[in-house]
Amino acid sequence: MLSSYSTLSKRAVSSTLCRAIPFYRTLASAVSGAPLDASKLKITKNPNPSNPLPNDKLVFGQTFTDHMLQIEWTQEKGWASPEIVPYGPLKLDPSAVVFHYGFEAFEGLKAYRTPENKITLFRPDMNMKRMNKSAARICLPTFDGAELIKLMGKLIEQDKRFVPQGQGYSLYLRPTIIGTTPALGVSTPDRALLYVIASPVGPYYKTGFKAVRLEATDYATRAWPGGCGDKKLGANYAPCILPQLQAAQRGYQQNLWLFGPEKNITEVGTMNVFFAFKNTATGKKELVTAPLDGTILEGVTRDSILALTRQNLDPREWDINERYYTITEVQERAKKGELLEAFGAGTAAVVSPIKEIGWHGSDIKVPLLPGEQTGPLTKQIASWIADIQYGRTQHGNWSQIVADLD
Ligand SMILES: *Cc1c(COP(=O)(O)O)cnc(C)c1O
Repeated sequence: MLSSYSTLSKRAVSSTLCRAIPFYRTLASAVSGAPLDASKLKITKNPNPSNPLPNDKLVFGQTFTDHMLQIEWTQEKGWASPEIVPYGPLKLDPSAVVFHYGFEAFEGLKAYRTPENKITLFRPDMNMKRMNKSAARICLPTFDGAELIKLMGKLIEQDKRFVPQGQGYSLYLRPTIIGTTPALGVSTPDRALLYVIASPVGPYYKTGFKAVRLEATDYATRAWPGGCGDKKLGANYAPCILPQLQAAQRGYQQNLWLFGPEKNITEVGTMNVFFAFKNTATGKKELVTAPLDGTILEGVTRDSILALTRQNLDPREWDINERYYTITEVQERAKKGELLEAFGAGTAAVVSPIKEIGWHGSDIKVPLLPGEQTGPLTKQIASWIADIQYGRTQHGNWSQIVADLD
């Protein structure tokens, strides 16, 4: 028993090092065996095509397109030929490690239809980089992100009827990687499946912004130093639902996750979070979000907001800072009239205005524009990003064409 345990753990460790160390040098060469190759794609068409729902019937993540992309991986052979197949249930052994030990990582990104009928993805290279980091963290194979972007383009072309038209509408893509080794030993999976499903979605706010009430949460912790809260692992999400229900019972829609004895503000629900303050002594304004110290998910929206505000806001008026800040600072500055705005940031809603934060029995009020459900900066950022996503303005290579529908 002892010897088999130590053999197992040695195998697990050496295999982890084999893949994890080269991964930090170059993603594509991280695994032995065949690399992911989009040119080997095989397509099996769905014999029973369905009809896309009208825009007003779309509910986030409830309906899916006719096809899905899947690619099998084995330690022995590397990545198999990618396949586009009819959307449908997976067939997996009940002993597959994904069901027992949480070998699962995922991504979320959207495909947008431009006025010229091209389909674009917003900074998909960032999602691919992050997915590779998430996969490597749980000893799943890494892959060439540029190849998966090409393959997602093929999936979108195949299901182009499902890419909705109109401001706020998009096709949500969910790349997922799971360990499929059919064995109960806790070690490096030697089989994996990478798949992508697609769901047509409508605007997060159908009738304009709706500001939310948050509960500042210190009785449960989302992520911690040395943990893996900066990775999109399925295992990070299930434990956050119970605290959300507890907050909901008290009338709050989401948790504002605090960390440590200082009560640092980290994230909100499954979004990054930003606060805007004004220094009444100097008149200078500040946009703040928590630094990427391993406890914060490295959001593409977060990064885009930092870049756009650094580029577009006058540095004489605004400081843009990634720094630690606490619920106590927010409370004290709100009392002094120095709290200007607060909003969540993520792919689903882009920005999500915050109107109130419950903390130790009282509510911190966050100002909104008169008669509106958002602050001015939040609104400005939402329109900068939507203009890039829907192809009305250009920003470097942020908007990447992956399919042409004409
Ligand atoms: C996905 C996610 C975000 C937002 O990331 P985006 O790339 O902007 O969508 C933020 N926090 C958590 C915990 C997340 O899972």
